[in-house]
Amino acid sequence: MPVEDSRLSGFYKLSVTERRAMIANLAKLSDDEVAALANHGELDELAADRMIENVIGTMSLPVGVATNFVVDDKPYIIPFCVEESSIVAAASNMAKRCLKKGGFKTNNDEPVMIGQIQVLGLENIEEASEAVLTAKYELMAMCNSLPSTMIKLGGGCKDIIVRSIDTISGKMLVVHLLVDTRDAMGANAVNTMAELVSGKIEEITNGRVHLRILSNLATHRLAKVEATFTPEELSDDGTRENGSKIITGILEAHHFAMADPYRATTHNKGIMNAISAIALACGQDWRAIEAGCHAWAAVENGAYTSMTRWERDDEGNLVGSIETPMAVGIVGGASKVHPVARANLSILGVESAQELAGIMAAAGIAQNLGAMRALATNGIQAGHMKLHARNMAVSAGAIGDEIEQVANIVNSQSGPVTQQLVKETLDSIRD
Ligand code: NAD
Repeated sequence: MPVEDSRLSGFYKLSVTERRAMIANLAKLSDDEVAALANHGELDELAADRMIENVIGTMSLPVGVATNFVVDDKPYIIPFCVEESSIVAAASNMAKRCLKKGGFKTNNDEPVMIGQIQVLGLENIEEASEAVLTAKYELMAMCNSLPSTMIKLGGGCKDIIVRSIDTISGKMLVVHLLVDTRDAMGANAVNTMAELVSGKIEEITNGRVHLRILSNLATHRLAKVEATFTPEELSDDGTRENGSKIITGILEAHHFAMADPYRATTHNKGIMNAISAIALACGQDWRAIEAGCHAWAAVENGAYTSMTRWERDDEGNLVGSIETPMAVGIVGGASKVHPVARANLSILGVESAQELAGIMAAAGIAQNLGAMRALATNGIQAGHMKLHARNMAVSAGAIGDEIEQVANIVNSQSGPVTQQLVKETLDSIRD
């Protein structure tokens, strides 16, 4: 169920139980969904044993919600599952700074995945390619003959293209099935179709079909999102002058990432802090998403570069955008099996995979801006270490109330927060 407002003033000051109760109320969660979130996110062992092999237990990570997001005029509270401090706070903070211009706007592609079929042993690649294209409608009809809800809902194989590639093993023909997977990530449907038509492809090409598997470089399934941030919103003090200076710093940071793969890797890791955390929270195949996003950042431009684009518009605002593969599903995979993933999807209240894709890409923009803004102003460590102090206190052996006490003391000091300082502070409060 979509929430009416994502600006939850003072939310961070509540206890975990109070926050959960508030989100349950806003998102109209069921008792089972609330219980799944409250139960340390654990799967029961039977469910876990069905998901992977050789199960010996389960492992928890925190789920936090990012606030202030408005995507296509709808407010969203966004669950993140991640172990790193300051990510959720930074995303929430940046999402607030584009509200004057209406938040994030999406223009996503249809949910079309690629199934690859590798054809070897061909005497004439051009003739084989022609033969596949001539039989295209027959092959598509074979794919779409599968009994499937996805196809009934308007999905299925929509086109077939052919590519010839040079490899160490010689020239190969690669057939791409373009499959609309609707609200599923679609790996299983695409792989089934690729296997189904491989015999026919061998017959018409006189070749040998080898691999048959989807590509995670989902270039026909790009999430395309943009947001505009005014100088006043980006400033420290509400002034246009200060905000404009910060925008200049952000653009310089972005140009560094565009030009240098060493910087781009860390810049993009920051974007994935949001995208992967939401993917994990919502039971998505985050490895597939990671692979697709990073590959596209290189393939689109011929060299690895920033996944985002940042510009100053004619009015002096900062405009951020992203176009990246986003193979997500709200049916299939773990999205419907893991009880916490189900609860998190309910918090989002999404009705389609495309809606989820847009939210994830929007959060990627916000996260990217948060890191660049911090780096271009005070440096990243001040905010990060402040939030990290509690983890450091736990590492130093603090328990119960000691954790907050130690974190507050070290954060109130002006110098850097080191593990030694944390240990000394813990020792001093125990004396
Ligand atoms: P899935 O196999 O569960 O398929 C989705 C099912 O839901 C289909 O049977 C479909 O007909 C049905 N369906 C019902 N309503 C639908 C709707 N509105 N839209 C679309 N389908 C609808 O799930 P999947 O998405 O095919 O596969 C995802 C899983 O595959 C993930 O767990 C992923 O990790 C795994 N996987 C990934 C790769 C990879 O390379 N990325 C490879 C193999 C498997």
